[in-house]
Amino acid sequence: MPKILVVEDEEKIARFVELELNYEGYEVEKAADGRAGLEMAQAGGFDCVLLDIMLPELSGTEVLRRLRKTSPVPVIMLTAKDGVPDKVAGLDLGADDYVTKPFAIEELLARIRAVLRKTSGAAEDAESLSCGAVTLTPARRSVAVSGEAVELTKREFDLLEYLLRNKNTVVLREKLLTDVWDFDFDGGTNAVDVYIRFLRQKIDEKYNIKLIHTVRGVGYTVREDG
Ligand code: CA
Repeated sequence: MPKILVVEDEEKIARFVELELNYEGYEVEKAADGRAGLEMAQAGGFDCVLLDIMLPELSGTEVLRRLRKTSPVPVIMLTAKDGVPDKVAGLDLGADDYVTKPFAIEELLARIRAVLRKTSGAAEDAESLSCGAVTLTPARRSVAVSGEAVELTKREFDLLEYLLRNKNTVVLREKLLTDVWDFDFDGGTNAVDVYIRFLRQKIDEKYNIKLIHTVRGVGYTVREDG
């Protein structure tokens, strides 16, 4: 679970941000002045620091200046609406991003996600699609069943990815042809059925699971066996 340090002297804002971040699954620690914030940030262990600029003890820019001597931890500055010089100074000092107060929480969350994506060993956090024991990671073009890698051809992979993105819904055969094969439906082709068969051989049959379900006369769906 990513851990975020919130350095903010306005208790109401700090509390609000903490609650929202907790809700999104982040662990949060708070500091109410610049000196405490700097000490905590220097101690390490955070994936991201949200740093207010107007702080007692030490200003946010000063905290950042000192922190950057020892730590590359991502920092998002919280700046006042008209604090353009602050933003420039913050970015010059090595802030990764800034959010202007008052901010919409969605914007702050988006900035945090972007910063974390940039820093987390990208591959590790690459988005995965899964259904039961099957996991597909688009960025790595990899598929695994219970952690064991499965070799698929490009077409098989694309088909499985499409089905997983539409997990639990019935995908029409025609839709697969237009979206995965990229050509207009020709009632005579059995390409979809052929490739579904390949996938079943490599996944369902090999691992004795039921991933791909046929909806007779309509199309296919993947869902967890049950
Ligand atoms: Ca403040």
